[in-house]
Amino acid sequence: MKRRSVVNRTKIKKNRIWITVVLFLLLTVLMVADMALSATALLGYAMNTKLSDTVLGLTGVFEEYEKTGSVPASFTGDYFVNDGGNVVDKRGRDTCAKGYSLDYSTGERSGTVKVYSDSDDRVLAMSEEEGLKINLDEVVDALDEEGNKFDIKGLLLPWTVGSDSDQRFDVPVWIARELSDGREVYLKSSVVINATDYVTVDRLLSSLMVVYMVVLLIVIINAVNSILNQKRLIKMFFTDGVTGGRNWSFFLMKGEQRLKKRRNAKRSYAVLDVDVVKYLNFCICHSISEGEKLLCRVYRNIKDTVGRRDMVVRCNSADFAVLMEIRDPDSAREKINSLMKAVESAAGEYSVNFHMGAYLIEGSSDRSARKYIDLEELYNNASTAREALDNTDESGISYFDSKMVEDQRWVNTVSERQQAALDNEEFVVYYQPKYDPRTDTLRGAEALIRWQSPEFGFLTPYKFIPIFENNGFITEIDHYMIAHAARDQKRWLDMGLECVPVSVNVSRTHFAEPDLAEQIRDMVDKEGTPHELIEIELTESAFFDDKKAMLRTVTKLKEYGFAVSMDDFCSGYSSLNSLKDMPLDVLKLDAEFFRGENADQRGRIVVAEAIRLARSLEMRTVAEGVEIKEQVDFLAEQQCDMIQGYYYAKPMPGQDYEQKMKKASGPQQ
Ligand code: C2E
Ligand code: MG
Ligand code: MG
Repeated sequence: MKRRSVVNRTKIKKNRIWITVVLFLLLTVLMVADMALSATALLGYAMNTKLSDTVLGLTGVFEEYEKTGSVPASFTGDYFVNDGGNVVDKRGRDTCAKGYSLDYSTGERSGTVKVYSDSDDRVLAMSEEEGLKINLDEVVDALDEEGNKFDIKGLLLPWTVGSDSDQRFDVPVWIARELSDGREVYLKSSVVINATDYVTVDRLLSSLMVVYMVVLLIVIINAVNSILNQKRLIKMFFTDGVTGGRNWSFFLMKGEQRLKKRRNAKRSYAVLDVDVVKYLNFCICHSISEGEKLLCRVYRNIKDTVGRRDMVVRCNSADFAVLMEIRDPDSAREKINSLMKAVESAAGEYSVNFHMGAYLIEGSSDRSARKYIDLEELYNNASTAREALDNTDESGISYFDSKMVEDQRWVNTVSERQQAALDNEEFVVYYQPKYDPRTDTLRGAEALIRWQSPEFGFLTPYKFIPIFENNGFITEIDHYMIAHAARDQKRWLDMGLECVPVSVNVSRTHFAEPDLAEQIRDMVDKEGTPHELIEIELTESAFFDDKKAMLRTVTKLKEYGFAVSMDDFCSGYSSLNSLKDMPLDVLKLDAEFFRGENADQRGRIVVAEAIRLARSLEMRTVAEGVEIKEQVDFLAEQQCDMIQGYYYAKPMPGQDYEQKMKKASGPQQ
């Protein structure tokens, strides 16, 4: 069956994983930044407080120096005094690095001092340009600006202290103050940090970190979960429920991508439609589960035969679509034949046949043409090729050719034009007379359609009836023909002609309508034609559709007074059984009886027996397609009731048939 997929162009948009990754990274950065800021803010606050204490502790030393010009004996540390360029007094070494101003205030004392780092010893944080950074807010700002110019070892201090309260950390600093005479006194001191000072900070930060870790973990689990779920969903969306392999949507999406993006443009491909013939019958005979097992074997065998990158999917009840690469176009048929063998081997002990339609895509270096590749259309071409095998049940391979494109185009044209043609009465009723071979008298006629198209000329039914049967328009045609035949009959009756029954073909698809008998009755009544002048012809294959419905319709038609005939008897199906069940009036022997090699010997035996059988069942017989005198003589001998064939007359326009009727009072010339 041809595909017109709805989901085929649905692009499955994967949830953007990178969004999750970016969110995750963002959260991590925020978390680290927040922790660093919190840590530095707390540390900075503690350092400033400690430093203020240190400064206050040294205020007495500065005041003493102001008064006496020397440091008090209680101050044993290093110091130096600067009078605006020269060191005028000192103890120890000047290891003063860069500094900054600190506003301090505790109780009544407050003021501004300069605080310098000590370049000899470890410091909290040291900038090459700016020296000590005790205010850790500044450290963070400077870090932002200056990258890693800082030795940030000191920043890690709180984390390495642990809870050992004896552990201490001395940060050496120089505190400088200007005396009233303009000199500057620099005193070396240190900020002492005990482990206990930082345990609280440490805990606070630890718990903050735990919260962040939990949040991070939830985010990670969530992200992983949604990725896995998405993968599962996508897999389900692209999986075939019967074979467990990929499905049609996947075939279209990936296959088309592959054809469009193939690197080696010269490489050829084959698109195949593989069908299990009469799969439904197989399931009825052997169960649905056996049928599905068969499909799985077919799928597996194809998959095992084609290349690793080739694709195969089940796309319809028993249809498979295959896209396979063909390295060497000359070997395409060989490769497809071996694939067919693999498919056939899936039947195992059962007698199953397979049809394969193939469409070959020749390699081409024209890159722009590849942009317009439509895999669905290519598959439909393969299906068209496969449909050419519909009239046989034998396994076979059919290759798509341009004639099929022409045929398809014609199907489309007819389908587009059919309604207008009906409205414009372009369909013409031809009549083919039926004669009694024993007396050569006119006994009936068959109404046969012709299309007198202003566009396409004169068309016989073979050019359009199968198309109407496929697209359902045949029911309109049947109505049209019944109405026209009834109208003609009524007119001829009114003209005083001796009318004989005219048979009209009613398509098998029409028999799905439960009120068909009523429709026919009403149409004939509308024209005012006696029912016995209209006969209904059913093709033999129609008897295989819904027997009960068919029997109901045939019975009703007979009740209404219409004769019913079986057309094309023995044209392909054995319908002896239908003869048993259906109360038919006329049996039309198929023209094939009178053609072919054995038409003379064996054919004659069958025809003679068929006529006898019909007679025993109280049915009349009509032999179709009779062209030569010997056949007429033979049929007359066998008591065949009527002959419809070129020997007597070809189908003719209504006016010609009217003339024939006028002459019908005597035997044919
Ligand atoms: P059919 O109903 O079996 O019609 C008999 C066909 O055999 C007619 O072909 C007729 O022209 C042809 N025929 C009759 N005698 C001879 C002969 O001696 N030699 C040869 N070679 N052919 C002969 P036609 O008119 O082309 O119709 C073909 C088929 O189209 C019909 O087969 C019928 O199945 C279908 N058909 C025709 N008209 C209608 C219609 O109005 N409605 C429906 N549903 N089908 C129609
Ligand atoms: Mg017929
Ligand atoms: Mg026929």
